[in-house]
Amino acid sequence: MFDSAKVLRQQEKQTTRRLFLIGGTSAALYVALSRIGRFHVEAGETVHGSPGDITIVNFSDDGKNLGKQTVSKVLKSDRDWLQQLGKNSYEIARQADTEIPYTGVSWHEHRRGIFRCICCDTALFSSQTKFDSGTGWPSFWEPLAKENISPRNDLSLGMARTEVRCARCDAHLGHVFNDGPEPTGLRYCMNAASMRFIPA
Ligand SMILES: [Zn+2]
Repeated sequence: MFDSAKVLRQQEKQTTRRLFLIGGTSAALYVALSRIGRFHVEAGETVHGSPGDITIVNFSDDGKNLGKQTVSKVLKSDRDWLQQLGKNSYEIARQADTEIPYTGVSWHEHRRGIFRCICCDTALFSSQTKFDSGTGWPSFWEPLAKENISPRNDLSLGMARTEVRCARCDAHLGHVFNDGPEPTGLRYCMNAASMRFIPA
């Protein structure tokens, strides 16, 4: 069983945080800004976000569109997310960290299937729109449904980027850039740790 208390103690000892700038088109262009200060994961009972209903599009595991459904947003405390996800996915999906490129489980996943949110199971991407971006992060030129993701402006790290979150649970998934392939010209640069791959 996952020992969240143990992880919390380990995190309190953690003094550095991986931080990467995501960019580039064909190479893993990133800059590690290490030791930017003491990093604490405050995985307490605080529940972030506001309750409410949203409409998402459901998909079967083999990628079939099952239509729209109005569902409740998923809100959990940091402590519950940490217990559910484990340390790595918690820091990335709930704390907006970025995984080290070429270390995720699905950047080189080439099987047919779909990618669901690691937190709430919402269907996010299909293998049919996945492409090799050369960045070491799983990359797609289109989400399964625009209703299922939530873009927002991200001005952190001195850059203007568009962050992509899960519409239902607000998980940090990655960023979207304008240097992707046709037909959209978009590159959804995702963290493998924020998603779960379901082979068809
Ligand atoms: Zn989610």
